[in-house]
Amino acid sequence: MDNQFDVKGKVIAITGGGGVLCGAFARDLAQKGAKIAVLDFSYENASKVTEDINKNGGEAVTVEVDVLDKERLEKAKDETLSHFGRIDVLINGAGGNKKEATADPESMPFCDLPHDALQWVFNLNVLGTVLTSQVFGKVMTEQKSGTILNISSMNSYRPLTKIVAYSAAKAAINNFTQWLAVHMNQNYSTEIRVNAIAPGFFLTEQNRFLLLDEKTGEPTARGQQIVDHTPMGRYGKPEDLVGTVTWLISDAAKFVNGIIVPVDGGFSAYSGV
Ligand code: NAD
Repeated sequence: MDNQFDVKGKVIAITGGGGVLCGAFARDLAQKGAKIAVLDFSYENASKVTEDINKNGGEAVTVEVDVLDKERLEKAKDETLSHFGRIDVLINGAGGNKKEATADPESMPFCDLPHDALQWVFNLNVLGTVLTSQVFGKVMTEQKSGTILNISSMNSYRPLTKIVAYSAAKAAINNFTQWLAVHMNQNYSTEIRVNAIAPGFFLTEQNRFLLLDEKTGEPTARGQQIVDHTPMGRYGKPEDLVGTVTWLISDAAKFVNGIIVPVDGGFSAYSGV
């Protein structure tokens, strides 16, 4: 691989690292020689990723965290620093949607969506990214360098039907990504970069209920519509994202700042006609 893409020795903290997509990022980056702090609400899920990495000759540590709890974030940052000595990259991966915040005229009309479910989605996706960037970003402002990578979504450009809070929350992630990129450069260091990826559609626990029929396991009409609207004709696989992640956090992207990169099999390019 071209040296510019080298991530060897970089210390990378990944929230949601026990999950499907960020677990794949953690494994891939560890294989490329990065040192990984796998941060997650679920110690069990994070530990599976960490054990896998360490078993295969990589270097990883599990750090339990709630991205909505500043005190626990501070503790997680301290644990990461005491283990690895620095933090070069933060990937804000913890995020997701929930059924109760998903509008459906028959089962859950928009006008009746419960406050707590809407709040949960906004908090996890927006506040979780902002609070983690405050705590881990502070380390970068002190060392005058670093890279933050946020995880957006196709919904951020044009909302998909039903997932009202998730779409608005991911749109906020795009906005925050641009804001933080400018803020870091203007106030702390021109060596701090903040970008985001906007993945297309990946079959994971958070969207399975929308994309696959629970009883038959066959694609729902919505699932089929997504694949039909993806010119490349399939869902993404987690490994489809790792090249873009590596690019954005490495020197290959050293003048790339404040952008949101779609990795979507062409979904966002296709008008549907
Ligand atoms: P996932 O549910 O597999 O992983 C999310 C992880 O976040 C879980 O391990 C969970 O324990 C952790 N988490 C939840 N709340 C937390 C909290 N408060 N503090 C710390 N950790 C917490 O989800 P995924 O599909 O791998 O998604 C990862 C990211 O990618 C999310 O931001 C998601 O919105 C985004 N995304 C997913 C898709 C997709 O199709 N799956 C598409 C676009 C964007």
